[in-house]
Amino acid sequence: MTMIVVGAGMAGLITALQAQELGAQVTLLEKGETPGGSLALSGGTLWCARTMDDLRRLVPRGDAELGRVLVEDFPASVEWLRGQGATLTPLPSLPDRHVYWLEPGPRVFIAHLLNRFESQGGRLVTGAMAERLVQDETGRVAGVVAKVGDARETFAADAVILTTGGFQANPELRARYFGPNSDRFILRSNPRSTGDGLLMATAIGAAASPAMATFYGHLLPAPPAVVPTHDFIAYTQYHSEQSVLVNLRGDRFTDESWGDETNNQAVARQPDALAFLIYDHTVYTSYAVRPGGGGARPTDTFYESKALGAPAVVAHSLEDLADGLQAYGVYGPGVLQTLTGYNAAVAEGRAAQLPIPRRAKANPVTTPPFYALGVTTAITFTLGGLRIDGDGRVLDRAGWPIAGLYAAGVDAGGIHNEQYAGGLCLGLVFGRRAARHAIG
Ligand SMILES: Cc1cc2nc3c(=O)[nH]c(=O)nc-3n(C[C@H](O)[C@H](O)[C@H](O)COP(=O)(O)OP(=O)(O)OC[C@H]3O[C@@H](n4cnc5c(N)ncnc54)[C@H](O)[C@@H]3O)c2cc1C
Repeated sequence: MTMIVVGAGMAGLITALQAQELGAQVTLLEKGETPGGSLALSGGTLWCARTMDDLRRLVPRGDAELGRVLVEDFPASVEWLRGQGATLTPLPSLPDRHVYWLEPGPRVFIAHLLNRFESQGGRLVTGAMAERLVQDETGRVAGVVAKVGDARETFAADAVILTTGGFQANPELRARYFGPNSDRFILRSNPRSTGDGLLMATAIGAAASPAMATFYGHLLPAPPAVVPTHDFIAYTQYHSEQSVLVNLRGDRFTDESWGDETNNQAVARQPDALAFLIYDHTVYTSYAVRPGGGGARPTDTFYESKALGAPAVVAHSLEDLADGLQAYGVYGPGVLQTLTGYNAAVAEGRAAQLPIPRRAKANPVTTPPFYALGVTTAITFTLGGLRIDGDGRVLDRAGWPIAGLYAAGVDAGGIHNEQYAGGLCLGLVFGRRAARHAIG
């Protein structure tokens, strides 16, 4: 049995190792000069919802059948990964999820898995960009054509697994699915996930999944700040769920308590994909300043973002804060009215009845100084992709599996939709599923 795995990030490495363990001869093609993909940039927190009910609460609109596979297979997949020699340290967490850290960090994890793969006879080809699928006369996928350096090479195999990491780095596809502000998004991912898996498979009749118009990412400081690629996590505004977000009109536009990844998509739909994250000193000390741990460095998300050049205001009254924001094109009277109305609703216990409800984490903005930071949408990975079944088989537009073709990780869409419950877990579970099914 021969197999081509396209993309050497989380899903690709897992698929390759699982297939190899089951006796396949695996070639792993990687577009970049170094493998790792977004896994290499990640926090290395491998997490998954504990039960199906937990997953439904975290991601109500995700595909229920694929979600069940994810939740049920995750614990055994963690044990399998430990069996491959990875160190997975359980982290303290909320009761609705399993959380492990890939100790001592993703780069060592990648080096370890690759070393294992190559020492067991696996072939890694870097600088190899898969461009097109090859089919035999029955329509079965029988290999890929890849650009390797200046040449084109055909890699024949019994099965092809697409693990190219999504289409977040493709401006044309982003504009198609995420609209006119998508050029303003900050790419919070590796730059090579340009939708090659999606494009190659749909070119031979594969179906796109639901969730094509949604994506996972986090708010980052707005331009002119430029966040260093290796340090995305330190500047990620996870605490937007504890804050108030206003747009250039000074209006709230989302229930911030849904979480930063949902706020991030809501900001994408605001003028200029720009918003201001507002909080008081209590939220600043409790959430905006983070101690670090689990691989993340300590950070002051406000002052470090300001130092990078992000729009930022600190003031001792709400009036001065609103006034200061006018310098950035924000309608000041709108901000003041929004914050005054929000604070009154919080004090009276009716935040959930605001026109834009605030159902949880309704922190008042009352303890000076007050902080406002310009933030914008960043895209980490797309939640829509190829339609698959529970074994990772890519389905055609009539719902039939395309023989010989599989997808895993971000390339397999619809498992999450709008919300998200872990990225690395998708590659772990569906990479193994695809490899096991392909080998039979
Ligand atoms: C800053 C940051 C922090 C994150 N933190 C976490 C976290 O703590 N926990 C978590 O669960 N998730 C996290 N994630 C998300 C996680 O990294 C991704 O969900 C995961 O890496 C996706 O796995 P993948 O294999 O689908 O894609 P990737 O890991 O991105 O791998 C895709 C690979 O395919 C290659 N490729 C693309 N096109 C081709 C082609 N045509 N031919 C050959 N190769 C190709 C790419 O170069 C890349 O190496 C984070 C991501 C980032 C950027």
